[in-house]
Amino acid sequence: MDAYFGRFQELLDQLYDGVYFVDNQRRITYWNHAAEAITGFSVADVLGRSCADNILTHIDSDGHSLCRGSCPLAQTLVDGQSREAEVYLHHRRGHRVPVAIRVSAIRDAAGQIVGAAELFNDVSSSIAIRERFRELEKLAYVDALTELANRRYVAKEIQQRIEELKRYDWKSGLIFADIDHFKRINDDHGHNVGDQVLKAVARTLAINVRSFDLFGRWGGEEFLGIIRNIDESALLFLADRLRMLVANTQVAAASSLLSVTVSVGVTIMTLDDDLEKAVQRADRLMYRSKCEGRNRTTLG
Ligand code: GH3
Ligand code: MG
Ligand code: MG
Repeated sequence: MDAYFGRFQELLDQLYDGVYFVDNQRRITYWNHAAEAITGFSVADVLGRSCADNILTHIDSDGHSLCRGSCPLAQTLVDGQSREAEVYLHHRRGHRVPVAIRVSAIRDAAGQIVGAAELFNDVSSSIAIRERFRELEKLAYVDALTELANRRYVAKEIQQRIEELKRYDWKSGLIFADIDHFKRINDDHGHNVGDQVLKAVARTLAINVRSFDLFGRWGGEEFLGIIRNIDESALLFLADRLRMLVANTQVAAASSLLSVTVSVGVTIMTLDDDLEKAVQRADRLMYRSKCEGRNRTTLG
């Protein structure tokens, strides 16, 4: 790090945005405090390593790996153009965090590209989730393991959304997600690792919906999302993106990275629904995804 840069380091470390620099081999040369907070990776974890080296492993909203395809950093290193994108990074604990990134070239005094800088900010609902968690905790509405809303709270929310539909015609949808072959994770790696996987899946689901939507834990390895003000096609699109993000959620076990998939059922709530009917329909649609091969989303 040169002296010129040293003067800015303090300033960069105070930003809420994550910032990192790479040299022209894409090796990370600088990583600020916010980057540590957003990703869970410390300076020591990343310095000198390539950003493509199984750290952030950005994927786009179709689930494509940017490291293997059109990585904005790599493109900027070649053509010097600035770029912006919405991507999902891999958090150290395994879940996927949605971030908005901006990439710019770093040039030397002669104008040659010597590296690139990436600025990224967390666009997830994790702050809203933290606040909600504190509220729910007071009321015994929280699931202790995942820190999501528990079944009691989810049930109450669904009833409220049905009331809202009847009164104001505001439509809400349900997303029922059940982890595929989860028993095997426990059997092969132990219950503790199973718990870590459950937590990572829960977090990926909860932080990738809007702050006024809600994901809760319905049962053992079953999660229910309540999505407000949405139509069928947008609900299906969202649910299938969540399914993709779960498949890209990786938890570090003793000697490998573990991932699981979910089978998903989605449905818009209707005027003749009650709690039981709506959840049962979402559950049956999830089960259809299981029967059709798992790791898929069924709308009905
Ligand atoms: P399928 O694809 O058909 O859903 O298979 P599955 O193995 O996921 O389904 P099954 O319902 O047979 O097993 C669910 C497993 O989830 C069994 C149970 O031990 C595990 N489980 C439930 N709650 C927890 C938990 O809090 N922690 C851990 N580690 N495991 C849990
Ligand atoms: Mg189940
Ligand atoms: Mg299951």
